[in-house]
Amino acid sequence: MRTMLLALVITAPVFAQPIPADPPLRWWKGNLHTHTFWSDGNDFPEMVCEWYADNGYNFLALSDHNTLSQGDRWIPIKAVNERSRESAFPKYLERFGESWVQTRGNRDSDDFEVRLKPFDEYRPFVEERGRFIMIQAEEITGSFNQRPIHINATNLAGLIPPQQADSMEETIRRVLQAVEAHAAEHHREVLTHLNHPNFGYGVTAEDIAPVLEERFFEVFNGHTGVHNSGDDNHVSTDRIWDIINTIRITQLDAPPIMALATDDSHYYHGHSNVSIPGRGWVMVHARHLTPESILLAMKAGDFYASTGVSLDDVSFDATSRTLTLSILPEPGEHYVTRFIGTRRGVDLTSTPVTDPNGTPLVTTRTYSPHIGEVLAEVSGPTAAYAFQGDELYVRAVIESDAAPDRPTRDSLHKRAWTQAFPHTPPGGP
Ligand SMILES: [Zn+2]
Ligand SMILES: [Zn+2]
Repeated sequence: MRTMLLALVITAPVFAQPIPADPPLRWWKGNLHTHTFWSDGNDFPEMVCEWYADNGYNFLALSDHNTLSQGDRWIPIKAVNERSRESAFPKYLERFGESWVQTRGNRDSDDFEVRLKPFDEYRPFVEERGRFIMIQAEEITGSFNQRPIHINATNLAGLIPPQQADSMEETIRRVLQAVEAHAAEHHREVLTHLNHPNFGYGVTAEDIAPVLEERFFEVFNGHTGVHNSGDDNHVSTDRIWDIINTIRITQLDAPPIMALATDDSHYYHGHSNVSIPGRGWVMVHARHLTPESILLAMKAGDFYASTGVSLDDVSFDATSRTLTLSILPEPGEHYVTRFIGTRRGVDLTSTPVTDPNGTPLVTTRTYSPHIGEVLAEVSGPTAAYAFQGDELYVRAVIESDAAPDRPTRDSLHKRAWTQAFPHTPPGGP
C-alpha cells in the first residue's frame, strides 16, 4: 500500500487586518429594533442581517417579541409564503443555497417546513470582525390595562418574560428590574430601552419620568403605526422627551433620559411600507465594535439618533459650557440646528387633556410651552450653543431640507437628535 505524503505548510492564520491596539474613537452605525420570522417579521434572520451589513450598518439586534432566536424552530412553508407573498423562501434558497438552507418534508406538500437558524448558528455566518456584529435581543412585549408596554433588552443571555403589576409605572419598573437582575447574574452589559411610547398611545411622559431605571427610549421608531408626531390629543415623542427631562431634573434630581431612533422593521419584500429597514438608527462613538463597547458608550451618552443626518462631532465643553456640533454635509443639502431646552424656574403645573365631554384622557398632560422650547436656531454645517446659566438641559435637533431615503408621514426630512447636555453619566461625579 502506497502512502501519499502530503507536504503540509502550516501557517499562522492571518487576518486581512490585524486587531488594532487602542484604536481611536469612531462612529458605529446600528439598529437595535428589528423583527424576523422568529416572531412577526417576514424574512429569515440571515437575510435581514445581510441587508443591514450591506447598507453600512456595523451592529444589529434582532429583537423578536418575547422570544430569542434559540432552540429548534421550523416554520411551515404556508406561513412563510403567506407572510412574504411567496417571496422569502425562493430568495433565501437562491441567496445561500441548499448547503445552508434546511428544510424537511415534501417540497410540494403542506408539511414542508423551513428551519429558522438560531442565533449561535447565524451569528458567525453573518458577522465580520471590525465591520458587522450581531447582538442578541428581545422585545419584551407586555401591557397594563391593554396599554402596550414594549421594552427592548439588548445583549441578553436568556429570555426575560413580560411582567405584571398593578400600575403602569410598576409594570415598566418590574421589566427593567428583571433585566437588571439578569445582567448581574450573567455579568454582562444589557441595555434596555422603552419602545414607541405613542404606539396605541400606551405610555405617557408621567409614566416614564419616575421610573429612573428607564434611561433610554425611542424618540423615533420607523413603524408607521407608532405616532412619533402624536395627534391633536397626544404630544409627540420629542415633547415627551422634554417633559421627562424636566420632571427628572427638577423633581427627582435625576439626569435626562436618552433617546434612540430605530427601524422596528417587519417587512422586507417591497409589498408593504409599514415597517421597513433603513429609517432610524443610532450612531455610537466607541473604540471597539463589540456588544460591551457599544452598550457602554451608549450608557455614557456617547451616541446620537438619526434618520439621515450624519454628525462628525458632538461635544460639550464643561469650562465654556458650550455645546458644539458639526455635520457631515451631503451635497446640495441645507441644515438647520435647533437647540431645545428648559430653563430653571419653569412652571411645572399641568392640566389633563380631555375629550369633548370633559373626561380626562389617558395621555401626557398639557404643560407650559417653556418646557422644551427652542432656545436658538442655527443654519449651516456647524452649530454651537453657549449656555447662559439657567438651562436645566439643552439638546440639539438637526434637520436637513432633504427627504430620507425611506420617508414616512412623520419623517419628511432627514434629522439627527443629540442627547441632552449637560448631564452627569451614572457612576460619574
Ligand atoms: Zn413594539
Ligand atoms: Zn418591534
